[in-house]
Amino acid sequence: MNKSKILHEFTKINRILRRYKSKQHWASKKLFPKDRALEQFDDFYGNVYGNDWKSIRVALLSEHKYCAVVNNFGDTEKTIQNLENNGAINVRALYEVNRQNYLEKSSEKVEKIYKLDNTIDKFKDAKIQKDFENIYGENEINVRDLKSEEPSTAKVEEPEIKRDLSLQKSLDSAQIDYSRIINPDVGLSGSALYEYIPATKLKGMEDWILESDHYRYYETSSEFSVKIVKENKLNFPEHLHIYSYDRGNISHFPSVRKCSTGVLDKYLLDGGSILPVLALDLQPKDHVLDMCAAPGGKSLMIMQSLLTDYLVCNDLQESRSRRVINVFKQYLYDYDRIINNKLVITNGDARGITESNVFDKILVDVPCTTDRHVVMENDNNIFKPTRIKERLRLPELQAALLTNALKLVKPGGTVVYSTCSLSPIQNDGVVHMALKKIWQETNFELTVSDLSEALKPMNCLFKINDRIGLKYGHIVVPFLPNNFGPMNFCKINKNIT
Ligand code: SAM
Repeated sequence: MNKSKILHEFTKINRILRRYKSKQHWASKKLFPKDRALEQFDDFYGNVYGNDWKSIRVALLSEHKYCAVVNNFGDTEKTIQNLENNGAINVRALYEVNRQNYLEKSSEKVEKIYKLDNTIDKFKDAKIQKDFENIYGENEINVRDLKSEEPSTAKVEEPEIKRDLSLQKSLDSAQIDYSRIINPDVGLSGSALYEYIPATKLKGMEDWILESDHYRYYETSSEFSVKIVKENKLNFPEHLHIYSYDRGNISHFPSVRKCSTGVLDKYLLDGGSILPVLALDLQPKDHVLDMCAAPGGKSLMIMQSLLTDYLVCNDLQESRSRRVINVFKQYLYDYDRIINNKLVITNGDARGITESNVFDKILVDVPCTTDRHVVMENDNNIFKPTRIKERLRLPELQAALLTNALKLVKPGGTVVYSTCSLSPIQNDGVVHMALKKIWQETNFELTVSDLSEALKPMNCLFKINDRIGLKYGHIVVPFLPNNFGPMNFCKINKNIT
């Protein structure tokens, strides 16, 4: 055996011994962000979606299906012909034909709403209980006791913790354990501590939020009433040519090509993404704001309707806004004439936009847990331990963005809120929070559109899950024969008073 081989063998044995000493099983599995995401989803969505979760899960982990939006600034007729020759179907035509076949049915919404509220309440309680146990140890406090109006009859052995203290008060009065103060310079990320050390006893606790806090965003209180109006038709703009393959057909679209005008012939996007744009009910001369526009798929679709007078596409970061610019440069034949005239691309925090009564339509396609991405990719995954705080605070950010949109939109205008998450916290929970805020802070009158009837003709293309009983929105769930989504969207109108 030569010297380097001996050294190699020695290193190998040493590594095994070290593993043995540290009691880490040599075959133990490292948990990647996508594994964490799936673990969380199994826990939460398993509760929310019940038996449906199994099929949603399989679809979420399988190949994704796309729709094609034909570029009206290219060789439109040729592109359409090419798609149809390949077996793709015009979604508007499909919608119109199917619409004739559906009759209105009375809904059983109320019953379903209570079903979802109860499920989330139970899940929330379990999470809060777990956080309590992490902080105070098992058997100390029962969440149900804290919630109950009656004094608790539970027997408590060590009454060290006052029963009437709220969790926040207990946290405030917790002692700092100086042996656990983190020095960020040594490279130990806060997230590691989030996972292995109870959230109390840490310096700078004001920045910490508990996993259970995330679920508290789902409120079931009904101290204000929301008007819900039924709509029975989706307005499909005449010039929007969208193509899809039939249910069960997993063909791929012909590759994207350059047209004679130099622009690309079609844009491929998740089929679910077309619904929030259709829900905007675009009308001629509309002024539209897309608050969170990057990379730009829905903005481009709005532009392809050829209806808007003025479209503002905003995103938080300059680098993200540059992606929107690139998309428009690739798809608009006369980009230089259109930009700043009919199209404006800005970057900034949309919570700070102040131009009120300018926009007829606002799309709020918020940052979310991007459920399909996080179970497939470890890169840029919000379930990375270093992004825990960002993830837990998503509903707060989402609600602030939606609240601002509801304040800004013109009376008579429409706001569509959308996410690509299956979480009722980020969907209906956020809508509820924003509606409550508007009710508390303004005199605006809002109505939510119930699009159940309007969406029925789309059932052959989208699996719209109404079994969990959403109060406000509609959700396209991943489904193998039509593997679009997830995409949740909710249409809210500001009344003229
Ligand atoms: N609508 C886009 C589309 O269809 O291509 C996708 C939007 S993506 C789901 C969410 C976007 O929100 C991200 O590009 C992110 O940079 C942006 N964002 C995050 N926080 C924001 C904020 N405070 N204001 C504006 N945009 C924000």
